[in-house]
Amino acid sequence: MFTVTNVGAVSGGEAFLLLTPEKAALLDSGYSFCAPQMLENISRLLGPRELDYVLLTHSHYDHASGSIYCKSRWPGATIVGSRHTEKILSKDSARDLMRRLNDSAARLNGQGQYLDCLKDLRVDRSVAEGDRIDLGSLQLQVLEMPGHTRCSIGFYAEQERLLLGCETLGVLAGPDLVMPCCLVSYNLTLQAIERVAALPLQYLLLPHSGLLEGEDCARFLTNAHYWLEESRRRIRDAAAGGGTEDELLQVFKDIFYTPQTQQVQPEVAFDLNASYIVPLLLKDE
Ligand SMILES: [Zn+2]
Repeated sequence: MFTVTNVGAVSGGEAFLLLTPEKAALLDSGYSFCAPQMLENISRLLGPRELDYVLLTHSHYDHASGSIYCKSRWPGATIVGSRHTEKILSKDSARDLMRRLNDSAARLNGQGQYLDCLKDLRVDRSVAEGDRIDLGSLQLQVLEMPGHTRCSIGFYAEQERLLLGCETLGVLAGPDLVMPCCLVSYNLTLQAIERVAALPLQYLLLPHSGLLEGEDCARFLTNAHYWLEESRRRIRDAAAGGGTEDELLQVFKDIFYTPQTQQVQPEVAFDLNASYIVPLLLKDE
């Protein structure tokens, strides 16, 4: 038995509280600037219970920044991430970049000053393929899913047929439209989607969209697979037709920068991601 609730404070900074009768885990943790509001949202659901884990799907600032704020309220919470995430979050350069991106997200959301805790950001427990997270009656198993980043992981509960997914699977951009998010590898992204599609899923949690149930899980994965291949085909066709770099980026943007994407991704962030994805779609790995 479990519940999943979005406790994120703003669009784009989603975080989901997974509760079992015995344990509480937060999946991803949103931005820095709105972390206090997220803590309030979590507290309201937890009551006197403790937060046991913060599970990080990867090291990006919109997913990992809020984790350290959780430790101020629940010092016993264990922050879990992949070895790559641990390595990245220990670097001053990475924290500086996260700070800058958080500042710009704060400005976009009309927020002024906020408490910056990123110097303390860390992974308490680094995990690898097959490692288990104990949530009492629900047991999670780590699946390494590089593709969006090298540090991307998911968590699978076999008995409940629940996958806590990550952005390697893509981001829902509209009905039956899934935006590829392969920043480091097309092939690894395809492999991850195929691997997850072979699992018997009843629930699939998408880090920016929430929980899919039943047939919607397979439908999402079919669409993720389709749009990964289809966007590559369209980008390659445009390149073969003499399209400039900007024109190829526009092809990608015309398909995927939908109102739904705009909800969770500011235009600068979208353009930056697209500038990595489009060249990757042209490359033979
Ligand atoms: Zn990301």
